Amino acid sequence: MKDTHFFEGLSPFALLEQYGSPLYVYNERVFRERCREMSHLVTYPHFKVNYSVKANSNLTLLRIAREEGLHVDAMSPGEIYLEELAGFTPDEIFYISNNVSTEEMAYAVSRGIMVSIDSLSQLERFGRHFPSHPVCIRVNSGVGAGHSDKVITGGEKTKFAICPADFPRVREILQTYELRLVGLNQHIGSFFLEEEPYLEGVRALLALAMDFPGLAFIDLGGGFGMPYERTQSRLDLASLGAKLSALMEDFAARYGSPVLFKIEPGRYLAAECCVLLGTVQAVKENYGHVYCGTDIGFNVLARPMLYGSYHEIEILSRDGSDHTDSLRPYTVVGNICESGDILAHDRMLPAMREEDLVCIHDAGAYGYSMASNYNNRLRPAEVLIDQAGTSRLIRRRDTLEDLTRGFEV
Ligand SMILES: *Cc1c(COP(=O)(O)O)cnc(C)c1O
Repeated sequence: MKDTHFFEGLSPFALLEQYGSPLYVYNERVFRERCREMSHLVTYPHFKVNYSVKANSNLTLLRIAREEGLHVDAMSPGEIYLEELAGFTPDEIFYISNNVSTEEMAYAVSRGIMVSIDSLSQLERFGRHFPSHPVCIRVNSGVGAGHSDKVITGGEKTKFAICPADFPRVREILQTYELRLVGLNQHIGSFFLEEEPYLEGVRALLALAMDFPGLAFIDLGGGFGMPYERTQSRLDLASLGAKLSALMEDFAARYGSPVLFKIEPGRYLAAECCVLLGTVQAVKENYGHVYCGTDIGFNVLARPMLYGSYHEIEILSRDGSDHTDSLRPYTVVGNICESGDILAHDRMLPAMREEDLVCIHDAGAYGYSMASNYNNRLRPAEVLIDQAGTSRLIRRRDTLEDLTRGFEV
């Protein structure tokens, strides 16, 4: 294993035996460590980490994040609902809206939850329905970054946020409806391992923020990456944190008030605390390609199919043998009826047999949260290994009856 302590002495085979295959396995200690790293990112005193729960909204993880003193972002009323269930209070929830209905705005406003608005027309609508309310706007300062075009959310090619050219109109709308602009937020995209694009985005945002006096907070966004590939090096948090602290101190001094800074990590908190276990169900050769057929379809883990994402894959052989001296390329696939159902192309892996165990690393972010019932397959269970080294179910596997929910049967 990449991290030999991950299973805290438990056997992955025994876990699969007990809870069924495939299975999302989380390590509480690792999740808490990531929460603490982010909480201590900067020395600037007015700082809050909002966990972006779309990465993983398991109720147990939300409760742990809350224990660690984090606040949360929400992208939908459904996320707000789960966050309230986990114990977060309205002032600890930040609703970052995108193309939402009036009902969705009202869902947040009626609870006293701060809303971020990301277009002029929605700001206008917010003003009409909720005049003189506090509000935040999402700003596109022109900087973007991310692991795939699909997740770059700043710059010139994205549906998100309000451009600086529209700020005069923003001010008019704020005035017309007596809205109080209390915050700005930005999220340039998901996944960076080099600090510079993020810092560039922060500098651009702060330059714009200077023209909006009286802000209570500025939210710098998420996107912090972690190494999916062993060859990648970790994001240098000490260096990034020091530079962010300096920017925050400098801004607060020039701005003239101790503005609260927030960040919104999702992946960084949730990815590494989880491995996805599955089972090799078939090994075969088609026209020279060797396939490792598993029970992990893209309904269980969508990232490789959706983004071409890389996850480390390990084979744990049932007979305990280690064939790492005889690696050969396998294309690792799932059990969904589509040829695109591929976890990895030509991955160098040891000789394997049916019933061996497949271990997909760093599956905690955008793993279960993107799982579906496509092909009417059942979404897997989720299990937590707690700090005492004991495993417990934190979400049961779907049942066949779950598939009929919503039908008149
Ligand atoms: C998805 C998202 C995040 C989190 O992104 P990560 O790459 O998981 O850190 C933060 N803010 C907003 C607005 C998002 O949409």
